Amino acid sequence: MVSFNCRGSYFDGISPVEQDVQVLFDTAGIVISGNSIPEGSLRIAALDCKFEFIGDDQCRITYSRKQSDFSSQISVIENDLSHKMSALGLTKPPLPTGSRRNKWIAGLISINIILFASAHFLMGPIAYWIANSVSHEREKELFHDWAIVSLIESKCNSSLHDKILDRLSAQILGEQYGDIHPEIMILDWDMVNAFALPGGQVIITKGFLNHIEKRQELVGVLAHELAHVSKRHVLAEYLKSLALVAFWSVTFGDYSGLIADPQTLQQFLELGFSRQAESEADLYAIEMLNDAGLDSTGIETFFESFQNRHEKSDENHEDYLEIPEILSTHPSHDNRIQMLKAISKVRENKGISLSDFRRLKRACDDNSSDVYQ
Ligand SMILES: [Zn+2]
Repeated sequence: MVSFNCRGSYFDGISPVEQDVQVLFDTAGIVISGNSIPEGSLRIAALDCKFEFIGDDQCRITYSRKQSDFSSQISVIENDLSHKMSALGLTKPPLPTGSRRNKWIAGLISINIILFASAHFLMGPIAYWIANSVSHEREKELFHDWAIVSLIESKCNSSLHDKILDRLSAQILGEQYGDIHPEIMILDWDMVNAFALPGGQVIITKGFLNHIEKRQELVGVLAHELAHVSKRHVLAEYLKSLALVAFWSVTFGDYSGLIADPQTLQQFLELGFSRQAESEADLYAIEMLNDAGLDSTGIETFFESFQNRHEKSDENHEDYLEIPEILSTHPSHDNRIQMLKAISKVRENKGISLSDFRRLKRACDDNSSDVYQ
């Protein structure tokens, strides 16, 4: 194509009325012709024109008349005008505009969503792959001080409590104990909770110890938290949360979240585990307890007793009782109890003596239990 014709509206910059003109586009510029053009036709070099597109089909052509203060304007509407003009070399290939631009932006957004979703989908397997390649010992080196510094002020353990808890976790973990060697901390917190932290630390609160009445509840909940540690849920979830913080940092330039501090710890605690991780922790906890010959009915017992208390606190309009980690992300309470009851076993061996159980329950109240009998 060396030229094409179309109709346009011509405004000479002097007369207030627009005139119909014929516009010929060729490689050198444009030629306008019509009754309103004094010489019948007027050639304007492309270099003297300013082309402005409104969408793909409309162009406003402005040119300054020589020896005149006035600018003239021609408005042309033609199908696919921007492409035809660029084919003649009058303009650059059109940028996506109008509906095309919207489609282009929508496409870009879709690609970003797909990329982000894929990254999010892959984040879990990648986090677990990394977590599994880090030894428990290395994990402890990386995170031990971090948790201790954040929580030491609330810690109630005496060396006696450490011994009792150590012996109990060794029974639960069996052969894995040597690798994991968990550190269990009793915190002087009133909330009913137990949770695991990066570095193999397991936290149980004074509120939790006050709430439970049966030894197997302590053993069951501890086994659930140790299962999170053993299955690398804690480190993997932490890595996932770091990836989200890293994404936030790169996107918004706020890097403060990447520094491990008590606030990061708090944010991590609030994230919790996935449902899949919770179910796996339940199953594995009961498997460990069954293998160790210990009573494994404690998780369901704790669950039921906490539910009762929670419902009563609702009825009595007491302060809202926070849901502990172990109960936080399960899909269906009934399904969970059924599943637990199907595999748990009542055993004589509760894993801990009554006197030691009472010592732990009093850990934050007094230090008299330090005398081991
Ligand atoms: Zn859990």
